[in-house]
Amino acid sequence: MIKLSTPLFEIRGIGPKFFERLKKFGLITVKDLLWHFPFRYEDFSQISKIADLKINQTATVSGVISDIKVHRTWKRRMFIIEVLVSDDTGSIKAIWFNQRFLLSIFKKGIIVNLAGKVVESPKGGLTLSHPVYELGASDGERETRHTGRLVPIYPETKRLTSKALRFLIKPLLDDLEKLDDPIPLEIIKQQNFPEINQAVNQIHFPEKLVQARVAKKRFAFEDLFLLQLANLRQRLKLARQKAHSIEMNIDYVRNLLSKLPFELTQTQKESLWEILKDMEKSRPMNRLLQGDVGSGKTIVAAIAALMVSEKSKQAAFMAPTEVLARQHYSTFRKFFPGFDKGVTLLTSSEARIFYGDELESEVKKQDLIKKISSAEIKIIIGTHALIQKNIKFKDLALVVIDEQHRFGVKQRAELTDQSPDILPHFLSMSATPIPRTLTLTIFGDLDLSIISELPKGRKEIITKIVAPDNRDKAYAFIRGQVKKGRQVFVICPRIEKEELEEGKILSDREIYRLEIKNVKEEYEKLSQKVFPDLRVGLLHGKMKGKEKAETMEKFKNGETDILISTSVIEVGVDVANATIMMIEGSERFGLAQLYQFRGRVGRGEHQSFCFLFTESSAKTTYKRLHSLLEAKNGFELAEKDLAIRGPGEFLGESQTGTPDLAMKAIQNPELVKSSREAAVNLLKTDPKLKNYPLLLLKIQEFEKQIHLE
Ligand code: ADP
Ligand code: MG
Repeated sequence: MIKLSTPLFEIRGIGPKFFERLKKFGLITVKDLLWHFPFRYEDFSQISKIADLKINQTATVSGVISDIKVHRTWKRRMFIIEVLVSDDTGSIKAIWFNQRFLLSIFKKGIIVNLAGKVVESPKGGLTLSHPVYELGASDGERETRHTGRLVPIYPETKRLTSKALRFLIKPLLDDLEKLDDPIPLEIIKQQNFPEINQAVNQIHFPEKLVQARVAKKRFAFEDLFLLQLANLRQRLKLARQKAHSIEMNIDYVRNLLSKLPFELTQTQKESLWEILKDMEKSRPMNRLLQGDVGSGKTIVAAIAALMVSEKSKQAAFMAPTEVLARQHYSTFRKFFPGFDKGVTLLTSSEARIFYGDELESEVKKQDLIKKISSAEIKIIIGTHALIQKNIKFKDLALVVIDEQHRFGVKQRAELTDQSPDILPHFLSMSATPIPRTLTLTIFGDLDLSIISELPKGRKEIITKIVAPDNRDKAYAFIRGQVKKGRQVFVICPRIEKEELEEGKILSDREIYRLEIKNVKEEYEKLSQKVFPDLRVGLLHGKMKGKEKAETMEKFKNGETDILISTSVIEVGVDVANATIMMIEGSERFGLAQLYQFRGRVGRGEHQSFCFLFTESSAKTTYKRLHSLLEAKNGFELAEKDLAIRGPGEFLGESQTGTPDLAMKAIQNPELVKSSREAAVNLLKTDPKLKNYPLLLLKIQEFEKQIHLE
């Protein structure tokens, strides 16, 4: 009896060498192999009579080998095997190139099934080109795997073919232990799914395509169901936990708002209200504040932080980069100059405190850390530096995390290790509009506030796709803008085409190296050849924090005209005088990402422009880029991106840790909905899943995988 947990090297027929190969594909246990699902099926279910075959047909024939010939083509040094197969209606030739080993398999007189495409041979007559073969299969004594049926096709490579996988999987299925279904039986019935044993058989070797489809749906449902349960459990768990209740002081808030140079937009007000109301509760808030780039999330979060400080508690503001942390710090200084309870900036390269008006000073990090732990400082802004071991908060009541989806649960845990009895309220902010299906699944543990409009008076950004012919024109235009005193961002894609050998898979390190190289080359070109008379700056991830901050500061202060940057480092940078966003190799970015880049201009009074440079002349590229010109808002683009590229691309696979199948299933709103309903109902009747130990175990495994714990 074979168990799911059985390591593959214990399986008969898998030697050490082959096991190593499987291991490279992440296939280590029987479960790994059986959960390596086919992505399509070839229909070889009808055995055709040779006389009936037609050109271009995909068919299975069954017959006796009546002749075997071998030749070589000297010119191309190929080794060709030609086999003649006959049934009671006629004969057909089958050919294979460079598969010398077939000579030891095929013998005259044996019965063989061949499945593949019928083509016309150059010399005339029909031929089966490179068919799949199976020996002695027409005697009906044993079930076929490769021919005469629906044949599964797996994601494969040269080193691990579909044929090899079928060869391995079929006997495993025949000898497999009986599996317990983690999905409760009621739900299986209600959804009309096959139970797990049947499903695993039918996903590999279905008799009809519909069986495979339903089996696949069942597994996708399972993943989504687990994801939903994990999220809902997270919610329940938080609901049982304590937080500081921050009572809202409406006069205090009104007073703050009255001092701003602008009025909050309607949805800024609504979001602020939701946040303040949530913080009044004595259980921790877990909220995502979503809004397009430039929609003004910072000010909303800042007021929440000020409300916390007014109640003598601490608020931490964590940004993914130093530049952003610094920008948030400046926001406090600029808009709330009278605040005297201490705002601090803490990054790996800087430590500053601000006590209102002109009272700003650089301090020793050690002193600052002391002031944090004594709660002398109420608002602490910084990067990951905030979650270092030596920093202790005294009364942390609010954590705000900017521009990172899942930068969250784990970091919050680190921040709250110190006082596990009382958790801080938690607000994460993101400019990536997340489609609703995703917020219901991957982000199902968060409540949502959405800022859906931009502040008044923002002009629409004029967006153009620039073909290579018009590059010089665009440069001339840019020069004109700079002469008028405007500034320009240039974003370079990760890798130039020439540098990519076709099909070569690069490591992250290599990508990183190429990215830096690329942006440096662009810098050379623009600063020396194209705009030698202008002030050009360079920004990339390899630079030191301080260097980056200085470069950014210079750009913000208007000391640089053109800033060339890599894509990864700067989200949410606010430079009102920058009016041109120029993106090189724009086809290499996702729509949502392009949308984000574009949002970095158009923040001031001047008309702004976005130029999408592309060397690709493919129609599909153009169409995709063009949707950026048409989309009314980020949500619309996000939905499009989700449909085109799938959620893995969209969010970054590594960031979510969500399994492939669930990721794909997320594109199916109906399945998202039904899995969510099932999860909600189940937890209603059995919140601790006492009656579903197997399910609970699975969820716990899952939670580890998606870092909810
Ligand atoms: P994001 O949501 O991308 O983080 P920011 O918070 O950086 O946006 O805000 C972008 C700019 O808009 C900032 O300069 C901010 O001061 C300004 N801003 C925010 N709210 C408003 C408003 N209601 N009216 C006008 N300007 C605003
Ligand atoms: Mg922002």
